[in-house]
Amino acid sequence: MPERETDQLEEGKDTFMSTPEITVDKPVAFVTGAGGGIGRATALRLASTHSLIITDLSEATLDETATAIDGVGGVSHAVPADITDFAQLDDALRQGERRFGTISAAVACAGIEVMGTAETVPLDAWQLSLAVNLTGVFLTARAALPSLKATRGSFTAIASDAATEGCEDGIAYTAAKHGVLGIIRCLALDHGPSGVRSNAICPGFVDTKMTARIFAGSPDGSANYYQDLVPLGRFAQAAEVAEVVRHFVDSTYSNGTIYALDGGATSGYFGRPGT
Ligand code: NAD
Repeated sequence: MPERETDQLEEGKDTFMSTPEITVDKPVAFVTGAGGGIGRATALRLASTHSLIITDLSEATLDETATAIDGVGGVSHAVPADITDFAQLDDALRQGERRFGTISAAVACAGIEVMGTAETVPLDAWQLSLAVNLTGVFLTARAALPSLKATRGSFTAIASDAATEGCEDGIAYTAAKHGVLGIIRCLALDHGPSGVRSNAICPGFVDTKMTARIFAGSPDGSANYYQDLVPLGRFAQAAEVAEVVRHFVDSTYSNGTIYALDGGATSGYFGRPGT
């Protein structure tokens, strides 16, 4: 893992007075799922303004993100952790805070796609979807809240358009993502009075590894089937989701906001047979 902050402090020792961008003074953000498409884009979007504590189940992709942050001149503390295990998650966050200070932003990006209907989805896949996509967001909030209350910070969850609509052949994912909006609304009510702002982003399809896996199982085996359902005629880029995360990190009055970011896909019937 890059140790940029330490390196900069060592290198900058003699020039401290002329190096005002010493990173220990930056606000600190915590990003889960930071080895994935949206998590990495989020970390990179925040890297110019925040020190980053990043975590993911995959150590290899988390390493790549840490290197990418390093490449844009940012600093990160990367700790692999399973979001379904509170002790691991909490330890990752506290390790990073010992290095950078108390977080003022937490972004829950970790997630998995699970396909299947009520008849076909294996029970263990159903339970894994709830553990990662729903309980994982709850545990992230639980770990982050003491810090966010101290800094009057923000909590942002990446939900999905499947949080507001049914997703065909995706009952376990849809149920979990609907639950994420319940978490966000309760956080907004329970912790808004402490100055913590909690919001959710509901992307439609975003061009990441997750969607690549889904497209492989589409009716014609390609992305075209899904792209044709988006009024804007294309999928979002992860950086476009990160831009909205940035908005919620900066916004001083958004709380309990459910933000659709789907190119108009949930605005009504579009491009479907018979419409
Ligand atoms: P991705 O697969 O690129 O990234 C997801 C990351 O979550 C991966 O790096 C993975 O290792 C991590 N993860 C999975 N299980 C974990 C666990 N138990 N503990 C810790 N980390 C774990 O997918 P993405 O597209 O970047 O998705 C990010 C979030 O956005 C997810 O919550 C997803 O449901 C949501 N989302 C994605 C899309 C899309 O089209 N890609 C659309 C709507 C919502």
